[in-house]
Amino acid sequence: MAKRDYYDILGVTKSASDSEIKKAYRKMALKYHPDKNPDDKEAEAKFKEAAEAYEVLSNADKKARYDQFGHQAFDGAGGFGGGGMNMDDIFSQFGDIFGGAFGGSGGFSGFGGGFGGGGQRRVKGSNLRIRVKLTLEDIANGVEKKVKVRRKVQAPGTTYKTCSTCNGSGQVTRVTNTILGRMQTASTCNVCGGAGQTIDKKPSDADAHGLIVKEETVSIKIPAGVVDGMQLKVSGKGNEAPGNGISGDLLVAIEEENHPTLQREGDNLHYDLYVSLPDAVLGTSKEIDTVTGKVRIKIEPGVQSGKILRLRGKGIPSINGYGKGDLLVHVNVWTPKTLNKQQKDFFESMRNDEHFEPKPEIGDKSFFEKVKDMFS
Ligand SMILES: [Zn+2]
Repeated sequence: MAKRDYYDILGVTKSASDSEIKKAYRKMALKYHPDKNPDDKEAEAKFKEAAEAYEVLSNADKKARYDQFGHQAFDGAGGFGGGGMNMDDIFSQFGDIFGGAFGGSGGFSGFGGGFGGGGQRRVKGSNLRIRVKLTLEDIANGVEKKVKVRRKVQAPGTTYKTCSTCNGSGQVTRVTNTILGRMQTASTCNVCGGAGQTIDKKPSDADAHGLIVKEETVSIKIPAGVVDGMQLKVSGKGNEAPGNGISGDLLVAIEEENHPTLQREGDNLHYDLYVSLPDAVLGTSKEIDTVTGKVRIKIEPGVQSGKILRLRGKGIPSINGYGKGDLLVHVNVWTPKTLNKQQKDFFESMRNDEHFEPKPEIGDKSFFEKVKDMFS
């Protein structure tokens, strides 16, 4: 089946603002919400389709990729494949759409019921957060990092049983007599916290939810081109939830270490190269650092201080998967502060020599023109 256009699915134009996209999705999600359309496969498919469209269009990077490449942008790794999003993904998306209306409280957040029958809520374990330090080389090439995480897991030997207070529904109904007649109110069961299950047996070292803290090594695949402060999500590697709940996520914050000689600016890198006066006059070759090892570059005779040499594609790959930045080598001519008698006499004799006369109009552009060129 051909995939529908994400903009068509949400009924917005390509120029729709973030808030228009959000509003359109909110409308769709409420209309096709499975709670409102029980056992309606078509509504469920529409609900998932809208969630997938929103997942892409609400993310600036993904939206840019989709605008350029269409559905092909998400084929293969990192895409939705044929399976689409699962319901847990969709509900974890709801936090920012519905302002927590679907969230729970306390250590576990409950998800709206209605799936798989029974009206039982599934609790989700809390998220864990870690920071990962990366070198510029890691960022340029992509890297797999193994980190130790202390996460809560269900203790071996813990068993759960149906909550006897709510009979597994996660909700208790109270009937009160008012002047308007009998009123029924439903509220979350405070014995099981809405999970519908309570602890049957647990080992003595487990907490009240039957969980223990365990150290685990988690492998995190970090794509090339990540940026300092960016957050990656490893689904299901946060704290486990009790009973049949689902695990929280591991949120990985990226921290970029300073490089001794290279400075990053977006996907471009900058390198300050110092050349001696004789090297600048006579020309030379110099070894410089790149993120993939040292590279020797040629310096033409008569190079001006302030010249920028551009090494195409020697920068950082774009996180969106297309293109690479450049490495910009800034040439600085080193002028000696002290000279011996012979050197002083030489330069003194060159003072009025026409070869040493600055002629900026020939050849080299001014600094500001070069900067202008770089960003145009
Ligand atoms: Zn209960």
